[in-house]
Amino acid sequence: MLMQETKKQQDTINQLGKPTLQTAMKQYWGYDSFRPLQRESMECGMSHQDSLVILPTGGGKSLCFQVPAVCHDGLTVVVSPLISLMKDQVDTLRECGVEAAQLNSSMSTSEKREIDIAIRENRLKLLYVAPERLATDAMIAYLKRCKVSMIAIDEAHCISAWGHDFRPEYRMLGTLKEHFPGIGIHAYTATASEKVRDDIASQLRLDNAKVLVGNFDRPNLTYRVVPSKSRFEQVCNLVLSRPGESGVVYCISRKEVDRVNVGLQGLGVRVLPYHAGLDDMERKTNQEAFLQDRCDVIVATVAFGMGIDKPDVRYVIHVGVPKSLEHYQQESGRAGRDGLEADCTLLYSPGDIITWSKMLTGNGSSLETQESQLRSLDTIRDYCTTPTCRHQLLVRYFGQDLSSDNCGACDVCLNEVDVMEDSLRISQMIVSCVVRLNQRYGVDYTAKVLTASSEPRITQLGHDKLSTHGLLSEYPIAAVKSWMDQVIAQGFLARTTEQYSTITVTTSGKRLLKGDATVRLSRPVESTASKRTKPNDSWEGIDRGVFEMLRNLRSRLSTERNVPAFVIFGDTTLREIARVRPGTLQAFSQLPGVGQRKLLDLGQAFIDATVEYCKSQKIATDVIAAPVRNQGAQPVASTSSGSKQANLTPSSIATFSLWKSGMSIEAVCEKTSRARSTVCGYLGDYIQTHGITDPSPWVSAAEIAEVELAIAATRINDRMRPLFDYTEGKISFDSIRFVLGCYNNRMREQDAGKGNLAVTNDQGNSM
Ligand code: ADP
Ligand code: ZN
Repeated sequence: MLMQETKKQQDTINQLGKPTLQTAMKQYWGYDSFRPLQRESMECGMSHQDSLVILPTGGGKSLCFQVPAVCHDGLTVVVSPLISLMKDQVDTLRECGVEAAQLNSSMSTSEKREIDIAIRENRLKLLYVAPERLATDAMIAYLKRCKVSMIAIDEAHCISAWGHDFRPEYRMLGTLKEHFPGIGIHAYTATASEKVRDDIASQLRLDNAKVLVGNFDRPNLTYRVVPSKSRFEQVCNLVLSRPGESGVVYCISRKEVDRVNVGLQGLGVRVLPYHAGLDDMERKTNQEAFLQDRCDVIVATVAFGMGIDKPDVRYVIHVGVPKSLEHYQQESGRAGRDGLEADCTLLYSPGDIITWSKMLTGNGSSLETQESQLRSLDTIRDYCTTPTCRHQLLVRYFGQDLSSDNCGACDVCLNEVDVMEDSLRISQMIVSCVVRLNQRYGVDYTAKVLTASSEPRITQLGHDKLSTHGLLSEYPIAAVKSWMDQVIAQGFLARTTEQYSTITVTTSGKRLLKGDATVRLSRPVESTASKRTKPNDSWEGIDRGVFEMLRNLRSRLSTERNVPAFVIFGDTTLREIARVRPGTLQAFSQLPGVGQRKLLDLGQAFIDATVEYCKSQKIATDVIAAPVRNQGAQPVASTSSGSKQANLTPSSIATFSLWKSGMSIEAVCEKTSRARSTVCGYLGDYIQTHGITDPSPWVSAAEIAEVELAIAATRINDRMRPLFDYTEGKISFDSIRFVLGCYNNRMREQDAGKGNLAVTNDQGNSM
């Protein structure tokens, strides 16, 4: 059926003449406009001009070769490093109605024959091959007989030993240019380092390649660095504050992965682990569950990475500090590939940097390698400790500059980071101490002098007599060291490279001494989980209930067809369906991400589900005018606990099993020797995090009835005061809170149940 429809579609195009890049993009992918540099890159593909395309993750590299592939007459050969990546792309293309295939060693002869026929009949548009297979004599000889129109090398940084994902097999691609003269070779990567870029062009022997470098800023990602106090609790709070959303939690060690995974499971989160210690089968199953939205959160080591092109990852949390800023950019960059807002939070502990540097210097590698790795470590330490715009620091590292002063999407620009008012004075004291020490000492020593240490070395050298000795003695030495790192990161001091630990003053450092500079030092405060202050504009007018129903439908279809959920539709499309709630194919066809094939294949199913759901909920359909915000009349998932953050503590979590066993509030007070008010707080956490729907173990039937009556009468389900007033103060706030929490959980469950066409939530309700 797929073949027939594709053929029909192909015929239409042939009758109308060749599609242009723009019409092909609209017809197959349902996209109206190009992302930055996509058109330029596609034009290289059309004109056989070699190219090297560097776009950030989510920049839309795949379309850069897929659209020209559709417009060309012949076959486009795509090299990709992982079978899973190839499979996802081939699945995605087929769902869009583009004929594509992947060659791999596990294929049967008849499958290979089918591909061969499709190539010979000039139907196949894209053929995905692994590098080691493409470079074989037999494959080259075969392709020479075919009509190859272009060759695309995806994840091209794998060819470079300087990159972070070197694959020796990629080196074999160096001969392609010779074998296919006149056919354009196009390399695509998200790696921004210049060294790697040059290496790609020379290894592939590209001919006068057009180099297209995109803007590396990812404005839809909000970056935060949170001092790590109690990692486990912080992670739990962050994850619980994003119920049902796709997230990745990166840990440094496998042990930590297991610990966090078990902890989150205990809280009812749909979570799975991923690390190199699991067998292939389990890793594959877990990854698939994540891609098909059967699991919300993956807790992983860095082993979880390149093969994951799930576009709707809404947050990435780093439980520990990664090895370098480049690693951080890669890993955090897996969030929000679809361009919708997403959060990247790094839990920072200075201890991680110490652990890394011990590991890097103790691993037996050459001194040169060690030094370069330690310098990479400095980049991430600076990122973590300096209160300057995180977006700015990230793009600067990749040789670019942010045009605006305030990115509006990082903890610093959002004013969530506490900055010392006397940053300038403190920085001047630090720089002047470095001057007094003749720029011959390192951070540790300088910090000791500043905090009035009288250790023998300092007194022997007479540094206790310096005017700067003890200038910052009122602060802990750890704070002073951290400020020194921040002053270095802001360019006022520099670490000399020859002698790693020595600090010198830069030209801007001299200006700083004269007061001619802006500097910011963070206050050494204890902060816990991150705040979420940025409004989610892209949810404007979207009905969350419809959205959740659509996600369930998508998950069911994705399981049925054994493809990742995003192959069906991306979150952008689902949100638009939930906003417009189209009742006709015509309206549906206008949505982004709906090409002709998906319109025919999936349109009616999504329309039917939407219309039926909206009817049952009395929600308007075919909303085309200005987005309308959801009113209080429908107590759906979004309003209440969905956006509220549970602030869990270990003591609170410890009571969960007691609540689960149905123990009364009084009994829990006695057992834990805590005040009633504290214990009621724990119960609130429990009801919220476990989706409890029945408050009867803790509130009398009469009170439940009163509160529910008040909710029905006032139509208010997100505030307690009006309900308290309605019941004339007869019912305590605690009881109202429990009844309301359970009521909202029940509404949410019913809501999901209505939209839920088959899939059941694995975790279900814990009651
Ligand atoms: P990359 O490989 O650069 O990380 P992808 O090719 O995976 O990025 O694209 C990321 C997401 O953006 C995909 O969901 C893709 O369909 C979508 N996308 C790509 N180009 C466009 C476009 N011109 N308009 C809208 N969405 C696009
Ligand atoms: Zn910023």
